[in-house]
Order: sequence, then structure tokens, then C-alpha cells
Amino acid sequence: MSTPNVLNPRGDYQEIYDQAFRFARERLHPLMARMDDEDWYPPHLLKDMAEAGYLGITAPPELGGAGMDVFASGMVAEAISYWNLNANCIWGPHENLCLNNLLRNGNEEQQQRFIPRLCRGELVGALALTEPGAGSDALAGMRTSAKRDGDDYILNGRKIFISNGPIADVLLVYAKTAPERGAKGISAFIVEKGMPGFGVAQELKKMGWRGCPTGELVFDNCRVPARNLVGGENAGVAVVMSGLDIERAFFAVPIVAAAQRCLDLSLDYAAQREQFGKPIAEQQMVQAMLADMYTEIEAARLLAYRALLACNSLEQGGGGTGELHKLCAAALLKAGSVHMLAVDSAVQIHGGMGFMWDTEVNRHYRNAKVSEIGAGTREIRRIIIATELLKETRAGHR
Ligand SMILES: Cc1cc2nc3c(=O)[nH]c(=O)nc-3n(C[C@H](O)[C@H](O)[C@H](O)COP(=O)(O)OP(=O)(O)OC[C@H]3O[C@@H](n4cnc5c(N)ncnc54)[C@H](O)[C@@H]3O)c2cc1C
Repeated sequence: MSTPNVLNPRGDYQEIYDQAFRFARERLHPLMARMDDEDWYPPHLLKDMAEAGYLGITAPPELGGAGMDVFASGMVAEAISYWNLNANCIWGPHENLCLNNLLRNGNEEQQQRFIPRLCRGELVGALALTEPGAGSDALAGMRTSAKRDGDDYILNGRKIFISNGPIADVLLVYAKTAPERGAKGISAFIVEKGMPGFGVAQELKKMGWRGCPTGELVFDNCRVPARNLVGGENAGVAVVMSGLDIERAFFAVPIVAAAQRCLDLSLDYAAQREQFGKPIAEQQMVQAMLADMYTEIEAARLLAYRALLACNSLEQGGGGTGELHKLCAAALLKAGSVHMLAVDSAVQIHGGMGFMWDTEVNRHYRNAKVSEIGAGTREIRRIIIATELLKETRAGHR
């Protein structure tokens, strides 16, 4: 078995990537323009992906999954996102934030109850951490509360910017069960569509990631059975933190893929667009943009792969501190800045055409900014990296 390495970055995962690449080119790319133009959610998307074997990649076969690891799911994310980043913004939260988190932290009964239907695309998954008053400061600032009442918990609060939120059937929701204990008083719950007191306050209109419904959710005396508590009362912080590390590595890969698509579109355009009697690809200033895009994308991809590979061996409840925490934040920081460079250069190379709404590079341009915001902003990523570096320095590990 050839594991990924710098000379062969996908190793034996190449075949998984190639198959998903073909699927995404044929089935997902044709959906992108309508998703972006009309903010259209393709209702068949997850079912089609389930039939093709792309839901539950990390789930064991007995629960209906493919029995592979996080790196394999990253290969699928990369292939999907090259052809349709918007589709990844539906699939990723379902597959990674919800399904993979339930696999890592849910008990056997919870897994039996939800994972097979998530793998078949019968249920749509989401994760709700961010609140109107708690974004970067998601843990300390969290106001959503959960109080035990007999065999239930009563949830009160609001969550915002939740990908798949307006359409989700199963949501991993974080709430404070012991507010006086700060981050150590957080618990994770599975909230199901139709539970009394749970509702969608609004669906949000976005500049990018269109077609992926994003919303504000409300919990108004929402009654959740205690059997839907994930990982034990007040044990939510470990669920959040290990989930966030994997999420950062996992989302770095699709971001790099979208940047790669921008480079490839720019190469094609530069070769065929003529000015001053020759293709603009022969102008050295255009060549410099192409060369910089290539170099940055290659660097970002290797860093993202390294972080994702490290996540393969992240033990349950691990993460949230140390080398992996730093590495995942660095992978996403680099991917986000490379995405911005790539879309800027791609639109520049396309000139006025790149400014037109319905060109593919323009869709990528509008999709890119959130790569520096979601899963911890670029500032929060830097804070994580610097904090870990300084901890290592103080401990004499550098
Ligand atoms: C399209 C989209 C999809 C999303 N999907 C989900 C989802 O599925 N589930 C979910 O839970 N969340 C989701 N989010 C939320 C996302 O994780 C947050 O938007 C993000 O963490 C930032 O929080 P905020 O928007 O409240 O910004 P704020 O925290 O208000 O930050 C505003 C600015 O202040 C800066 N800032 C804040 N604190 C510091 C500091 N200490 N030092 C320096 N600068 C600082 C930030 O970097 C930023 O530039 C999504 C967001 C978007 C836009």
C-alpha cells in the first residue's frame, strides 16, 4: 500500500479521487450554474451521491458506509469541489460535520438510528455551533442553553449561518448545560426536524456558496430526549474541538481544488484570448500570475494533505490542542489565502469577461471569500498557530 507522500501525494487514494472526479464532472458540474444563478438547492443531490457511494465514506459497511478514512473523504471533497464547490457546501456539512462527528462521538444506539439513513441520503445532516452573539468566541460566548427536565432536555437559543440548516433533518447542536463552567459546561445534542420548539428563523441570502441553504435556527423550549445527548453531559467541548480540527483539514482540500479549477480555466482562456496579435498567455505578466497560482496551489495542497493525513489517526476526543490543532489551522489559513489569490488572478486574466456574473471564474470569485471566514476566520487560525508555537517554545520543544 503506497501511503501519500511528497512524491506521490495521493498515494493509493488516487483511484478514489479519479472516480469521484469523473462522477463530479458528469453529474455535479452541470448543476453549478443553476445553483449559483437561482440559489437553487438540487433536491436529488445527496441521494444521487449516496447511490454513487459518496455518502458515509468514513462509516463502517455495517452502518451503510464505505469503511474508509478521513483522507479518502478528502479525496472525494477535492474532486467534487473542482467541478462544483457549491455542491461540496451541501455534501461537506452533511458528510463531515454531521455524519463523521456522529460516528466519532455518538453511541451505538445513536449510530444505528441515524448513520444508515444519513448514508442513504434519506436524512440531511448539519452542525450548529455559531450563534448571533458567538462566532469567533463560539464556546465562551455561547448562550444557547439546555436544561434537564425528566427524560428530556429543554433547549433555548439561536444558531446562525448554519449550512444545510433550513433543510436539515438531523443537526448536531451545541448548548450549555452548565453555563457557570464556561466551555467545560457545553453538551452536544442531536436535534431532529419536527421536534417541538425547533424552527428555521430565516434562510440567508449569500454572495457565494449559493444553492447551499444557510440559515438561522431557533430553539424555543425545544424538547430533546436525553437519549439524543452525544458524548455525555458537559463533554461537548471535546466533541467541538476534535470536530473543528478535522473540519479545518477537511475544508482546506476543497478550497485548494477550487483554486486549481481557477488556474485551469485561466490557462485555457490565456491560450485562446488574443491581444496585440498573440495569445495573452505569451505576455510575461500573465505568465507570472499563472506561475504564482501554480506554486501557491501546490504548496497549499501538500499542507492540506499533511493535515488530513494526520487526522486519520486522531483518537476520539483528541485534538483541540497541540501539533494537530496547529497543523489543521495552518492548512486552512494557507488554503484560504491561496483561494483568494487564485480567484483574483483568474478574474484578472479573464479581464472584463471575468467581471461578468455568469462566467465560471466569477462564480468562483464570489465563492472564495468565505474560505477566510468559515471554520474559524483567518485571524482565529493565526491565533491558534501562534498560541501553539509559543506553548512549544515555553516548554522548550523548539
Ligand atoms: C457561508 C457560511 C457557512 C457557515 N456554516 C456554518 C455551519 O454549518 N455551522 C456553524 O456552526 N457555523 C457556520 N458558519 C459560521 C462561521 O464559522 C463563523 O461565521 C465564523 O466562525 C466567524 O464568526 P462571525 O461570523 O460571528 O464573526 P466574528 O466572530 O464576529 O468576527 C468578526 C471579525 O472580527 C475578527 N475577530 C474576532 N475575534 C478576534 C480576535 N480575538 N482577534 C482578532 N480578530 C478577531 C474576526 O476574525 C473577523 O474578522 C458559517 C459561516 C458562513 C459565512
